[in-house]
Amino acid sequence: MAEEANPFESLQEQIDDAAVHVDVPEDVLERFKHPERVLETNLTVEMDDGSLSIFKAFRSQFNGDRGPYKGGVRYHPGVSRDEVKALSGWMVYKCGVVDIPYGGGKGGIVVEPRDLSTGELERLTRSFAKELRPIVGEDRDIPAPDVNTGQREMNWIKDTYETLENTTAPGVVTGKAIESGGSEGRVEATGRSVMLTAREAFDYLDRDIESATVAVQGYGNAGSVAAKLIESELGANVVAVSDSSGAVHDPGGLDAAAVRSHKDETGTVTGYPDASEEFSNEDLLTMDVDLLIPAALENAIDGDLARDVKADVVVEAANGPLTPEADDVLTESEVYVFPDILANAGGVTVSYFEWVQNRQRFYWPESRVNDELERHIVDAFDGLTAAFENHDLPNFRRAAYVVALERLGRAYRESGTWP
Ligand code: GLU
Repeated sequence: MAEEANPFESLQEQIDDAAVHVDVPEDVLERFKHPERVLETNLTVEMDDGSLSIFKAFRSQFNGDRGPYKGGVRYHPGVSRDEVKALSGWMVYKCGVVDIPYGGGKGGIVVEPRDLSTGELERLTRSFAKELRPIVGEDRDIPAPDVNTGQREMNWIKDTYETLENTTAPGVVTGKAIESGGSEGRVEATGRSVMLTAREAFDYLDRDIESATVAVQGYGNAGSVAAKLIESELGANVVAVSDSSGAVHDPGGLDAAAVRSHKDETGTVTGYPDASEEFSNEDLLTMDVDLLIPAALENAIDGDLARDVKADVVVEAANGPLTPEADDVLTESEVYVFPDILANAGGVTVSYFEWVQNRQRFYWPESRVNDELERHIVDAFDGLTAAFENHDLPNFRRAAYVVALERLGRAYRESGTWP
């Protein structure tokens, strides 16, 4: 098996590929390829049995030229320094594509959260929040949910920060529960932007989404909401979905919401009683469908697997699911890939709306959130396809980086260099 791609090197390659088309000096480009700083810390947590455990944790602040650092915090045994650096960089370019006034950051803890009790998770999260306190803030760096974190963890971070700072500062994190200053529509936002991107992509390519077959790899928040909305709002046919335990398939179409309920009850999509067959994640990724949505982790499709991909269109719900080699293979075989930094940008876009609401202490109804989100994603989609055509680019990922790099370059030029 080929060696797993390093996501940080993938990010740098994506930036270099786009830089050829953009007027950014070499030395400034170096700045745009490296994080400004990375906090690495070892959290000491008291376990339920009274023993102590040490957990490694990171926060990477990649670039703040367009605004406060912004990005999620993930809990996963595979978290590494280079992964967090890459994810924080992808946030910079994502915020650039959808043109929201943020830089990029990302955090992670090396932990299998399923092995911890709720009390242990709370102590772990509060311990991380204590370490983050000096470097985060409503105008500094704003964490959010990511893989295996959600409203509960964000509320713990907010409460720890506010307690230590002796203030109220709901905008220090986004993705909170509604009662704690969260926004309507935030939980569904990532899946919603995946759905909107799929809708715009099929329209742009002159294909019919209503008759499309869809496979979704990964059935967490992003994948399951995307599947549900693609079914309910676009009328497409979700024929296969998977999680880390395997895939379920029904050529006649699965009920995306019912599969999610099954996963909530049993912990996995496998065993869903109305599926006609079960197979592996790899089988799902190489299915002959109109639309494939990777919604799990980085490097789901490498160069080798890409040679077997039979989907016509790929919309990335996960961050970094394709290696650069996979990108080259799919470009060559004319599979249209709509990149993560556009397709899953709904999460951070509604985080931005949440932060705006927190700062104004004035809260929007869900209809306003969804309307504003649609406007941002459709505008970003149009900007990306315009760059694709105007620069005669090989693929849409390149176009997304060109758009973001141009915005980042302008912001940096306008501010100048601090000695
Ligand atoms: N973790 C999400 C992402 O990768 C959301 C980040 C945020 O809302 O700040 O885009």
